[in-house]
Amino acid sequence: MDELEILINALSVSPENSVLRKHVAELQFKKGLFEEALLNFNIVLAEEFNFETLECKLNCLVSLERFDEAKTIVDEEMDPEENWANGHVILSKCFFHNKEYKNALKSYEKAVELLPELKDDEFYKKIKEFDPREKLRELQGNTVEEEHEVYSDFSMDKPKGNMITFSDVGGMEKAKESININIIFPLKNPEFFKAYGKKAGGGILLYGPPGCGKTFMAQATAGECNANFTNISITDILDMYIGESEKNLHSIFENARRYKPAVIFIDEIDAIGGKRQSMSSSASRSLTNQLLVEMDSTQSDNENLLVIGATNTPWQVDSALRRPGRFDRILFIQPPDFKARVEILKLHLKDKPCENIDYERIAKKLVKYSGADIKAICDVASENVIKIAMAKGKILPITTKDLNDAVKQVKPSTIEWLNTAKNYATYSNQSGIYDEVIEYLKSAD
Ligand code: ATP
Repeated sequence: MDELEILINALSVSPENSVLRKHVAELQFKKGLFEEALLNFNIVLAEEFNFETLECKLNCLVSLERFDEAKTIVDEEMDPEENWANGHVILSKCFFHNKEYKNALKSYEKAVELLPELKDDEFYKKIKEFDPREKLRELQGNTVEEEHEVYSDFSMDKPKGNMITFSDVGGMEKAKESININIIFPLKNPEFFKAYGKKAGGGILLYGPPGCGKTFMAQATAGECNANFTNISITDILDMYIGESEKNLHSIFENARRYKPAVIFIDEIDAIGGKRQSMSSSASRSLTNQLLVEMDSTQSDNENLLVIGATNTPWQVDSALRRPGRFDRILFIQPPDFKARVEILKLHLKDKPCENIDYERIAKKLVKYSGADIKAICDVASENVIKIAMAKGKILPITTKDLNDAVKQVKPSTIEWLNTAKNYATYSNQSGIYDEVIEYLKSAD
C-alpha cells in the first residue's frame, strides 16, 4: 500500500478530518489525479473557506482545462482582493487558453509585480510569442499581404467540430427563426438572394438582460453558418496599437472581409458605438464614426460579412448604427419563457447523473431567471450532491429536491435590467424599438 492509499483508508474512518483530507487532496494533485483532488478540495472548502485551499482547487480546474469555471471563481474573489497574485496567475492561464494573449500578458505581469517569485520565464515567452503587439512589431516593413496573414493568426477562428449550434441553445425560437431567415439562409444560398437583387450579410443587434444568451446565440449563429468567427471587445481595439483605435477596427473588418463568409461579434457594442452626443472625448466619437463607416454597405464590400452586436444597454447605442445597411435587425433576447427554461435545465443537466427530475415543476419557479442563472442552479445542485456523494463514497443522482434547494441559493439576475428597460420602453419608445420589451413585460410567465 502506498502513502496515498493508507491516507485514503484513514480518511474513510474519519471523513470529518479536514487536515487529513487536504493532505490527501494535495497528494492526489501531485499524482495527477485532478478529479479526485478537486472533489476533496471542494469538501475542505465547504467545511472552512481559505484562500490557500481555493488556490489548490483552482490549480485542479486549470489542470482539468476547466478554464471558464476557474476564471469565474477568480473574478468573483478578485473584487475586494485585487492584490491576489496567484489569482492573477490563474487568470493569465485562463486568458491564454482562450487566446486572449494581451489580457494573459497583463495578468501575468500584474502577478509578477505583486509577487516576483511567481516569475515563469517559459510561460512568459509563450504568451509573448502570441501577443499581437509583438507580432505587429515584427511586421514593420512587411507588405499589406503579410500584415493580413498575421492578423488572421489571432483574430479569426474557423468553426471547429465542437463549435456550438442552435441545438445547444435552449428556447429563443423567435430569435432563431429570425436569424435563420435573415442571416443563415442568405449566407448559405447567396445565389438565391442575388436573383432578387439582395445581398447576404449585414448587421444584427442583440439586446437584453445579462446572461440571457446573447453571446451564446452569436456563437451558435457562426456555428450554424460554418463561417469564420471573430469576437471583439473594446479592449482589443483600444490597446492593440496605442492611439490608433480606428485603424485597428478597420483592420479587423478588412481581415474578416478577406475570410468571408465571416461573422464579427462585437460584445458590449455600446462601448464602441455609443451615442456620440454623450461622449466626452473626441477619440470615442471618432471610433463610433469609424464603426459607422465599416458597417455602411454602400462604402464597403460587406457581402457575406455578418456583424452581430450585443448590448445590455441599447439606449446607449448611437441611433445612426440602427439605420438600414447597418444594424437594421434588432432582436430582444429576453429571459427564457417556461418552455425555454425546461430546455435549458435539460441541456445543462444532460451529462450529469439525474433521477426522475420534474423539469416542469422547477421551470415554473424560474420566472425572470436568465439562462446563466439556470446554469448556476444546475452547477450548485451538482456541487451539493457531489459533497454528499464524496462523504458516502458512491455516485448519487441529482434529484428534483436538489434542484429545488439550489433554486433557493440563486436569485434571478434580470429584475434590475427589466426595471430600467421598463422606464425606457415607457418614456422613450418613439421608434417602437422597445415594443418587444413591453410585450414581454405584459406576458412574463
Ligand atoms: P452578458 O450580457 O452578461 O454578456 P449574455 O446575454 O451574452 O450575457 P451569455 O454569455 O451568452 O449571456 O450566457 C451566459 C451563459 O449562460 C452561457 O454560456 C450559457 O451557458 C448559459 N445560457 C444562457 N442562455 C442560454 C440558453 N438559451 N440555452 C443554454 N444556455 C444558456
